[in-house]
Amino acid sequence: MDCIFCKIISGQIPAKILKETDDSISFLDAFPLAKGHVLVIPKNHHQKIQDMSEKENSDLFSLVHTMISKVDSITGSTLLAVHNGKDAGQEVPHVHVHLVPRSKYDSAGA
Ligand code: 5GP
Ligand code: ZN
Repeated sequence: MDCIFCKIISGQIPAKILKETDDSISFLDAFPLAKGHVLVIPKNHHQKIQDMSEKENSDLFSLVHTMISKVDSITGSTLLAVHNGKDAGQEVPHVHVHLVPRSKYDSAGA
């Protein structure tokens, strides 16, 4: 499987891992939109959220819930985003939730 995120999970590509659960893992984005930009992904390879099992889905969003308080403490506001499919802007075809610290000083729309 030629997937960057699967390679991070297997340890073939280094990443700053933050927290891991049974089915999910969170790590820092290598090209952050803002300092503290976190990605939360399922350990199994799925392209879209609806491809995951309910258990994987609840585990993923439970880890999002855990991580959002940490990310939110950076600026007090967080952008949550999922590009669910190529035409929605998904570049890595492995489900990932973006958690991006935002502030009133960020440029609009960034
Ligand atoms: P997408 O556009 O698919 O929603 O987001 C993919 C994200 O993966 C981007 O924010 C990009 O910076 C991040 N990314 C791409 N390659 C790597 C990598 O090798 N390591 C890490 N940690 N993040 C990556
Ligand atoms: Zn993958």
